[in-house]
Amino acid sequence: MKVMKFGGTSVGSAKSILNVKRIVEAAGDPVIVVVSALGGITDKLIHTSKMAAAGDSGYEEAFGEIVRRHEEIVEDIIPAGERKHALKQRIGELLNELRDIFQGIFLIKDLSPKTSDTIVSYGERLSSIIVAELIEGAERFDSRAFVKTEKKHSKHTLDKDLTNRLVRETFRSIPKVAVVPGFISSDKTTGEVTNLGRGGSDYTAAVIAAALDADSLEIWTDVDGFMTADPRVIPNAYTITELSYVEATELCNFGAKVVYPPTIYPVCHKNIPILIKNTFNPDGAGTVIKQEVSSPQSKAIKGISSINDTSLITVQGLGMVGVIGVNYRIFKVLAKNGISVFLVSQASSENSTSIGVRTADADLACEVLNEEFAKEIEMGEISPMQAEKDLATVAIVGENMKHTPGIAGKLFGTLGRNGINVIACAQGASETNISFVIDSRSLRKALNVIHDSFFLSEYQVLNLFICGIGTVGGSLIEQIRSQRERLMAENGLKLHVVGIIDGSRAMFGRNGFDLANFREELKAHGMPSSRETIRDEVIGMNIFNSVFVDCTASPDIASLYKDFLQHNISVVAANKIAASSEYENYRELKTIARRRGVKFLFETNVGAGLPIINTINDLIHSGDKILKIEAVLSGTLNYIFNKVSADLPFSRTIRMAQEERYSEPDPRIDLSGKDVIRKLVILAREAGYRIDQEDVEKNLFVPNDFFEGSLDDFWKKVPSLDAAFEERRRILEKEHKHWRFVAKLEEGKASVGLQEVAANHPFYGLEGSNNIILLTTERYKEYPMMIQGYGAGAGVTAAGVFADIMSIANV
Ligand code: ADP
Ligand code: ASP
Ligand code: MG
Repeated sequence: MKVMKFGGTSVGSAKSILNVKRIVEAAGDPVIVVVSALGGITDKLIHTSKMAAAGDSGYEEAFGEIVRRHEEIVEDIIPAGERKHALKQRIGELLNELRDIFQGIFLIKDLSPKTSDTIVSYGERLSSIIVAELIEGAERFDSRAFVKTEKKHSKHTLDKDLTNRLVRETFRSIPKVAVVPGFISSDKTTGEVTNLGRGGSDYTAAVIAAALDADSLEIWTDVDGFMTADPRVIPNAYTITELSYVEATELCNFGAKVVYPPTIYPVCHKNIPILIKNTFNPDGAGTVIKQEVSSPQSKAIKGISSINDTSLITVQGLGMVGVIGVNYRIFKVLAKNGISVFLVSQASSENSTSIGVRTADADLACEVLNEEFAKEIEMGEISPMQAEKDLATVAIVGENMKHTPGIAGKLFGTLGRNGINVIACAQGASETNISFVIDSRSLRKALNVIHDSFFLSEYQVLNLFICGIGTVGGSLIEQIRSQRERLMAENGLKLHVVGIIDGSRAMFGRNGFDLANFREELKAHGMPSSRETIRDEVIGMNIFNSVFVDCTASPDIASLYKDFLQHNISVVAANKIAASSEYENYRELKTIARRRGVKFLFETNVGAGLPIINTINDLIHSGDKILKIEAVLSGTLNYIFNKVSADLPFSRTIRMAQEERYSEPDPRIDLSGKDVIRKLVILAREAGYRIDQEDVEKNLFVPNDFFEGSLDDFWKKVPSLDAAFEERRRILEKEHKHWRFVAKLEEGKASVGLQEVAANHPFYGLEGSNNIILLTTERYKEYPMMIQGYGAGAGVTAAGVFADIMSIANV
């Protein structure tokens, strides 16, 4: 014999009730079917009674909806005939009773708990009548006759012994199908209708299963089983195939709504397995909850759950230290007032005990605690109690935690890196549950980041904001699009682009954009963007594992990094402005990143995709010292000096560099050495030198006055330099030398300038727009380390940015 419970969602519509019929009729054995009210009806009954009690005549319409839902279901699922007629009449009578009760409440404007219990009972009474009529050969039983409660601490609690006895008597012989309303019960002394609490139909089913020693208890709902987290919050939560009773209890107690918490104990006691199944996918395997689970090598944590409406009350004061009985008094007074405590954390110094309670209980809890400790408060030994509200409690659960060191470290490390502050925490010695309290605004983020980092999810997720979709940003998005599948398959990494921003528009989406038509989408749906809106949206999304990728050259965007890093958002910048800004600012950004456990990376600031900054960092971290840097860092200038010839005057080569997009849109940034100076400053800083742009000595080849005035003026004036350049070029040609614009750092002194290099110099043969860097270090003294290759271009720069992003993912 088995007990099958169908929740509200399983009896919510004609289609789902017909599924229930098929499932039950295929079950074979004698079965006891426990049903909830039609989906959403319990909420509606409560809502309607509150309206009536408040004197709001709109209750009539709300009630009309309840009537319609039931009438429509009957209409849709029961075939026409005599029995349908009788059923409609019976439903009609119950609904009429209900109408009278609502009317009474509306008139006297009072709603007692007793009346409220009567009203909600109609939900299950009605649904069970309908289901019993629908299922072939079913007989209906009224649970009020055998599920009995008694009043304890002003709450109705199950009288287990009496209920067990009555259940056994009632089901001495079980028909093929017995249909029982869940949730409702009656008081053992007064006989008045009561209930087992919201979600209580699961409990009804468990109590019956245990009393009758059923072979199994099946809970049929609207998801494929017990999942690693609430699928409404974590879209990639997945079904757990097996859970132990202990694990299931821990998860349910901490808010996994799929099973009502008291459900597990009675069946666990009798070692009856629980199966969680999906009414909408009956062939799915679902979840088995039982004593011993197989798969010993499964993951350390099985699931995560949370309670949103948490308040924390801290009893603290130096007067508590070493005093025996403080905790006893705390829990005694809370129990006496029917307040349930679900988390306790006491510092070993004994001067504070924090208690987690439901927010609905918080005010009363403070009141009774303040009363209990009034004397100590007056003496100043204990501080007055206050509740900290708007908090949430999260629990990670798994029996394997017992054997795995480092889980708490990983948990809190992950939360910290994501900027989530833990207010209180508790781990019992059973080691199957670690619970902690956080600000409720961080709940979604916390659940996501834990799910992600404990590999409960199939993939690790990185959430990217891409700012700037010009040549580099556009190329990056293309690369991400084409690499995504491979990264998922081979590295278990999922790159979500959750924000795309250009100079005028921005769009954000928690689930990530499909990148096929991002430009069109941005144009059609993007919102106007400004520095402020970008900051507010990116920070406001408060999304886990997030990275802001700056592919612009904008000082406005660079000025946002500090805010982002402070909110635990990593920054990857192709934009050089921040890393080359005043030394204090550069330092501050790096410090914030380090303190917050996030990354500030800018490898592409120098030499595009070439591994220069990382190499310098690796050398230094391994104890080397950078003595000298010599480098050709401007692809534009190298291009110009390689092109200049008798046929191509200097001014023409500048034009060509601009047309071929080697140079900055304003080529004076390159010609003035500004771009190289920025790069050198960044290299020098990474090499451990404190340097600002003003400290760099400049030996330029274009007179200063060419950089004043407009770009147009510049284009007009620049041919006047051609003749002198040609003259110098001829001499150089004769001497078999090449011009290189060299950046140099030696003995802490930085300089940039034009240098004539002979054929034996490593810079001599540098082609096209390539870059070259020579690093002389303690270890590479005689033969400096050389890095050479493409130093510009959207493709290689985007690839460098991509590599920075991947290094954050750490895969
Ligand atoms: P029923 O009406 O069948 O009793 P409930 O709404 O009470 O259904 O419970 C099912 C819901 O519980 C699911 O739709 C899901 O959103 C939610 N839920 C929360 N946590 C979990 C979890 N860990 N696994 C599965 N479902 C969960
Ligand atoms: N109908 C009740 C509720 O919504 C009981 C249940 O569905 O389990 O809380
Ligand atoms: Mg439920």
